[in-house]
Amino acid sequence: MSSVTNIYEKQRLFFNSNKTKSVGFRKRKLIELKNTLINNEADILSAINKDLGKHYYESYLTEYFMIISEIKKTIKNINVWTRPQRVKSSILNFPSRDYLLSDPYGCTLQISPWNYPFQLSMATLIGSIAAGNTIILKPSEYAPKTSEIISEIISSIFEEGHVNVVTGGPKVATELLKLRWDHIIFTGSTKIGKIIAAAAAKHLTPTILELGGKSPCIVDQTAKIKVSSKRIAWAKFINCGQTCIAPDYILVHDDIKEKLIKGLSSEIRNLYGKKAIDSESYGKIAHIKHFERMIEFISDEKILFGGDHDRESLYFGPTIIEIQNSKSKLMKSEIFGPILPIITFSNEEELREIILENEKPLGFYIFSEKRDFIKKMSRYFSFGGGVSNDCIIQFVNNNLPFGGIGHSGMGKYHGKYSFDAFTHFKPFIERGTWVDIPLRYAPYPSSFKWLKKVLNFFT
Ligand code: NAD
Repeated sequence: MSSVTNIYEKQRLFFNSNKTKSVGFRKRKLIELKNTLINNEADILSAINKDLGKHYYESYLTEYFMIISEIKKTIKNINVWTRPQRVKSSILNFPSRDYLLSDPYGCTLQISPWNYPFQLSMATLIGSIAAGNTIILKPSEYAPKTSEIISEIISSIFEEGHVNVVTGGPKVATELLKLRWDHIIFTGSTKIGKIIAAAAAKHLTPTILELGGKSPCIVDQTAKIKVSSKRIAWAKFINCGQTCIAPDYILVHDDIKEKLIKGLSSEIRNLYGKKAIDSESYGKIAHIKHFERMIEFISDEKILFGGDHDRESLYFGPTIIEIQNSKSKLMKSEIFGPILPIITFSNEEELREIILENEKPLGFYIFSEKRDFIKKMSRYFSFGGGVSNDCIIQFVNNNLPFGGIGHSGMGKYHGKYSFDAFTHFKPFIERGTWVDIPLRYAPYPSSFKWLKKVLNFFT
């Protein structure tokens, strides 16, 4: 029996022991996890820094703080979320009490990526623990230090068979996918998402896919250049552009193209100085494979800003490209790095054509001072989540669900949505026996006008 199968068997036994059905048990484990995360803050930030060169300040804001806030919210609300939810009964079932029971799926699998290695692994884990599942988490092989500390923390708190971390790359993931899971959540690329969906389909396993895509960023003539440039530059180049909801490309109105390019260039310098390579606030590309992709992306393109890089340190500077040809490879796949292509539009039809060339995106951004335009665009296009006059902040509010649509994913999580995502809400009806209304029983009468009257009265 392989070690993966061994852990899986232990999880089956653990789940069948019914231990995770106790809300008190789940809550105690979450409190322990929260305290351990707080005690290990410095080591967590250091691990992320080693993996991705992220400044501690950035990791605190975009990874650590979000998880602490998520776990606190979950601990505070778990008793309410797990309570049976009463719903109105049907007159046909009188007398009855109808409600929804929250039920864990069972033994579940989580596969996560490297770009926000702590946050993306822990957020799903918290929701699933709260829902009462057992979990095998496979973090990404490209963030080994963060995976290591997550693994240490988890094994120090959770009994074997409740929550386990299994490290490794595609080989391990393939082995895990051969097993029959009760639920799978995968965060990563659309390409691998299809492999996950195919493996899950063999066992009819419910699946959440958190994928990527080309998130457009529209800037119209009325946008305030300074604040828009500042917000776009921050959102695009944070984590060296390796953010699933980063603005992938800019669609700027002809009239303000030059001003925007000037604004963006100046804001990039404000963020990272004249030489981003020397800035401690600027990250690095996670892996040589992704670094080579960036090099390939900018060959034969018109570079307006940046383009500097250093293979040895995996540094790739903030870069702005002017798209001159709609067939550019930069417009054919998700960039997922510090390259910002700019395309111009002169009317809404052009805008629509360019955006609809690609699959439904994960993020959608509109910079404009015209509320009508914002309203029109946000209603017209289909996307995972969007923002006007800012980017990527939809991720921060855990009162909002986070997830994609179409090729950018399926299913949503964060806060209460996470608990719901990892829970099967099973309807249950308690019938009373003190009366048995004969309405439904045969033999049926030939005329039933009275039945219509009674039913219509109650509906
Ligand atoms: P990836 O798809 O290459 O890898 C993600 C995970 O899948 C890793 O743990 C990896 O080991 C595993 N994996 C790799 N090959 C596999 C296979 N053949 N079978 C099963 N599992 C396999 O993605 P990545 O490079 O880690 O992350 C970048 C992508 O993830 C981007 O497309 C980005 O947009 C997306 N992403 C999405 C979100 C989101 O919340 N929607 C968040 C972060 C990243």
